Amino acid sequence: MDERTLIRTYFDRPTGAAGGHPEVLLGIGDDAAILRPEPGYDLVVAIDTLVEGTHFPQGTPARAIGHRSLAVNLSDLAAMAAEPRWAVLALAMPEAGEAWIREFADGLFALADRHGVALVGGDTVRGPLAATVTVHGRVRPGLGVRRSGAQPGDGIWVTGHPGDAVAGRLQLAAARERGGHVSGQALEQTLERTARPLVERFLFPEPRVREGRDLASLATAMLDVSDGLHDDLGKLMEASDTGADLDIACLPLSAALRAVYPADAIQHALTGGDDYELCFTVPEANEARLAAVAAAWPVPVTRIGTVAAETGVRWSLAGKPHPVGPAWQHF
Ligand code: ADP
Ligand code: MG
Repeated sequence: MDERTLIRTYFDRPTGAAGGHPEVLLGIGDDAAILRPEPGYDLVVAIDTLVEGTHFPQGTPARAIGHRSLAVNLSDLAAMAAEPRWAVLALAMPEAGEAWIREFADGLFALADRHGVALVGGDTVRGPLAATVTVHGRVRPGLGVRRSGAQPGDGIWVTGHPGDAVAGRLQLAAARERGGHVSGQALEQTLERTARPLVERFLFPEPRVREGRDLASLATAMLDVSDGLHDDLGKLMEASDTGADLDIACLPLSAALRAVYPADAIQHALTGGDDYELCFTVPEANEARLAAVAAAWPVPVTRIGTVAAETGVRWSLAGKPHPVGPAWQHF
C-alpha cells in the first residue's frame, strides 16, 4: 500500500455534518483543512510531540502510541477547562507497516471518538518514530483556567492516583528485562497481576477532559501533571506567585502502587510523572460545588494541601517536613 492509500484508509474518516463535526467544512485530502468555528468561543490550541526512546520505550504497542499522542494533548486542553474539537497529526516512522498504522489509528480514533474530536489533517514522513499532535479546542470567553490564579487559602486538589503511571512504566521495563515482549501475551504472562492496572495507566492515560470542563467556574488555577506532581505544583505556584503547604498523608496512593512499591510509593507519586491527572486550586467557598460535580466523575479527587502566600512547595508528614527526592530519570 502506498502512503496516500494508507492515509485514506486509516486516517480519513467521515467528518463534516455527517461525521458529527459540522464545523469541519473540509477535512483530510486537500492541501489544508477548512474549519468554520461556531461563534462565541475563544480558541484554545496545544501541541505535544512523543519521541520513541524519550517519551515511550521502543516496542511500545502502536495502539498505545496512537492513544497517547492524542491523550497528552487532550490533557493540556483539559487543564485549560477547554472542550477539544479538532486535531492534526504529524507522524514520522521508519517504515509504513500497514499493521502498525492500523493499530496506531485504532488507538487514536478510539480516544478521539470518545471526546468528539475530528482528525482534520496531518503529515506523514519517514524518520525515527515520533508523533506530533496539535489539538484545537474552545472555551467560553474568559472561562479558560490558567496556572496563574491561585490565591492563598485555596485548597489544592488532584484527580486520580499520581504515581501509578511511573510504576507501570517501571513494571514494563522489568517485564522486558525478564524476557517478555512489551505487547501481547508474553507480556501479559510476565506481568504480575497487581502490576497490570499500573501498566494500563502508563500506556493508556485517560485525559480528564470532562473534569477539566466542570472546573471552569470553580478552579482558580489548574495544570495537568506530566512531569511529576511536585515539579508541576512548583510551576503552578510560581505562575500564581504563591506557595503550597501539602500533607503527604493526604496523597491518594492507589492500592496497586502501594502493593507493588511499598517503599517508594510516595516518591513515585511526587516525582514519577506521566500521570496526566489534573492539579488545581479551589477557594474553600467553592468546595461544596466541587463535591457536587465531582460526585459524577469516574475518578476520585483529593485535597492534598493549601495555597500559601509564602512561595515554595512544602510537604510534611505527621507535622515534620518531608524532603522530596530527585525526579526519576526517563529511560
Ligand atoms: P501535501 O503534500 O500537500 O502536504 P500530503 O500528501 O502530505 O499533502 O497530505 C495529503 C492529505 O492527507 C492532507 O489533507 C493531509 O492533511 C493529510 N494527511 C497526511 N498525513 C496525515 C496523517 N498522518 N494524519 C492525518 N492526515 C494526514
Ligand atoms: Mg499541499
